[in-house]
Amino acid sequence: MTPSNTKAALTAFAAVVGADAVFDGEEDRAAYSDHFALDETRHAPIAAVAPASVEEVRAIVRLANAHKVPLWPISRGKNFGYGGAAPVLKGSVVLDLSRMKKIEVDVENGTVLVEPGVGFYDLYDHLQANKISLWLSVPGNSWGSVAGNALDRGVGYTSYGDHAARICGLEVVLADGDIVRTGAGAMDGSPNWQLYKPGFGPSWDTMFCQSNFGIVTKLGLWLMPEPESMLGFDFEFDKPEDLGWVIDTLAPLRREGIIQQAPSIGNWLRAAAVMTTRDQWTDKPGALDDSVVTAIRKKFDIGWWSVQTRFYGPLDLTEATARIVTRAFNGNPVLAMKPARWVRGDKPEGSPMTGVPVTFPLANANWHGGRGGHIGYSPVLPPRGDLAMDQFKRTYALYQQFGMDYHASFAMGERSLTNVNQILFDKDDADMVARVDRFFRALVADASAKRYGEYRTHIEYMDLVAGSYDYNDHALRRLNERVKDALDPNGVIAPGKSGIWPAALREKRA
Ligand code: ADP
Repeated sequence: MTPSNTKAALTAFAAVVGADAVFDGEEDRAAYSDHFALDETRHAPIAAVAPASVEEVRAIVRLANAHKVPLWPISRGKNFGYGGAAPVLKGSVVLDLSRMKKIEVDVENGTVLVEPGVGFYDLYDHLQANKISLWLSVPGNSWGSVAGNALDRGVGYTSYGDHAARICGLEVVLADGDIVRTGAGAMDGSPNWQLYKPGFGPSWDTMFCQSNFGIVTKLGLWLMPEPESMLGFDFEFDKPEDLGWVIDTLAPLRREGIIQQAPSIGNWLRAAAVMTTRDQWTDKPGALDDSVVTAIRKKFDIGWWSVQTRFYGPLDLTEATARIVTRAFNGNPVLAMKPARWVRGDKPEGSPMTGVPVTFPLANANWHGGRGGHIGYSPVLPPRGDLAMDQFKRTYALYQQFGMDYHASFAMGERSLTNVNQILFDKDDADMVARVDRFFRALVADASAKRYGEYRTHIEYMDLVAGSYDYNDHALRRLNERVKDALDPNGVIAPGKSGIWPAALREKRA
């Protein structure tokens, strides 16, 4: 990459998409940077180009090969906490797909085929405007796209919350400009593209998740038919140690499919960081002390841990589920257990639990004041109370050691537990920024020592995290990079994404 071949590439891109869809001014570069990063200059793009159709995407990919210019595909670029719109490799051209906004809903079968630019709000509005009784599953910050979020294995709160698992059929532009449809879509005109995931032969959908093997231009997804009812409980627990038995109570209910969404057990800072700022509680540096924790809990009337569980379906079923869950918690030290109930015909409940997009949780980036930043740290562990307690204690000690405020949750998957931490910081505090980098590396080392890997990470740490998946001297990385070199010999699609580098750029690996 040199300034001259970038310039020539941008001129060629403009001939495809029009000059007004090529963005290479200072403000454009700033707009496509990651404003929540520790140091956004490390991953600054050189420009962005925004095609409006799959044919334009194909033309741009071919030109990127001719000019040897790396592209970083984004859907809406709202992957906050993990890099936003910014590329791993500084100087890449962001391929902004947010102008591609087609939505095709199959109401009867409960599926949708979206283009990358379709945001959660767009799809929500579409369903509302057309009175379609299908519910979304949305992430806590729903600014992003349905496709980009599913491709990065984002999660939501309903029983359809494992978004990648609900993908059914992709359309992908490969690095040479070829176009492929996965699953049943491989048969031209198949009515089963969004209905039957495997198709025939190997299935490729997951190959394009968290990867840089292609550019997804259409994504099929299953949606939840509006249930007759949604019942559940909001639980509060008093002590840090309650985490262990709560996990051991929830795990069998998840395994047996009695609870079908992933309850997320989170600590007191989740509420406080969204609703207030740190200076309202204390002016002391270092991790918050117990007196502040007590004050926060009192003000919001919450436990050390809180968790919401929800059951979806016919009222007969959800009421039976509520009885089974109540029985499971009987005899345990529950601080509070508040029932939640919505039945079809009630006014909309309006939260992510019913698939309504929200953005207010992003207010937590203001916690420290200054320009707010945050990055996610999310190792996966087995769903066992003793292991969760051990994870909590080790991680909590690291927060204390690095003087950071503990912000974590444990999300119960069907067979695993994801410990999602949001590390909040003030980008204008140079000491804190330097500390957070050391803190993050210490956290990854700590998890790796237990042989826990992260499910997702920020662009700055993709090599670090990919490196922790080390079986047989990093055999998975070798496989990924053989595939990368076969599909994308010039390395034009998202070099470095998920620690996968094309041959010519491998020396860039951190
Ligand atoms: P969102 O706006 O939904 O939060 P992003 O556009 O920020 O999602 O993308 C999240 C991640 O997924 C990024 O790392 C991006 O490179 C990748 N990604 C997003 N859309 C595509 C796509 N259409 N094809 C391939 N990779 C994509």
